[in-house]
Amino acid sequence: MNERDEMQSTISIKPHHFVDIITSFGTGNRIFTPHPYGHAVHTVSEIIDSNREVCLKIELGIDDICRPCAHNAAGFCDDTIDTSYRPSAPSSKNKWNLLIDQRWCERLGIKQGDRLKARELCERIRDKMGDITDIYHEVPAHMTAERSTNLVRGLEYYLRQEEEF
Ligand code: SF4
Repeated sequence: MNERDEMQSTISIKPHHFVDIITSFGTGNRIFTPHPYGHAVHTVSEIIDSNREVCLKIELGIDDICRPCAHNAAGFCDDTIDTSYRPSAPSSKNKWNLLIDQRWCERLGIKQGDRLKARELCERIRDKMGDITDIYHEVPAHMTAERSTNLVRGLEYYLRQEEEF
């Protein structure tokens, strides 16, 4: 079984990666193209968009998106983030991601290893997300407001009955 076939049954995913994918759907983006880093956002987005019942396994470390990425350095993300607009955030992407993922886990009541269907995780986000400003409090408020708007739109899109789209 190849990697894509395996992901058709269960996708290992960081909470914020799933949130980012749904947020991206909320911008109207349905074109899934490879990224220069070589990660699998495009593949995972496509599977999630085409199958709302796909099983997700919560992963706070290297997930199925990270696995083929050029910055996956033996199970550790060696990338950095742009701190010019979020000076209080850690420059290590590994630390930043963990911080955001831990906040999402706390907000949603999920933990490492939990298994949920994509639709169920969307319902949980819809019901529990509340004001996400504090999840991204290092980020300027106007950027989080835009993220929140697109996330809500993405959730609406994803949770619509399939026959409607
Ligand atoms: S978190 Fe790091 S390893 Fe994972 S996809 Fe992003 S840059 Fe690559």
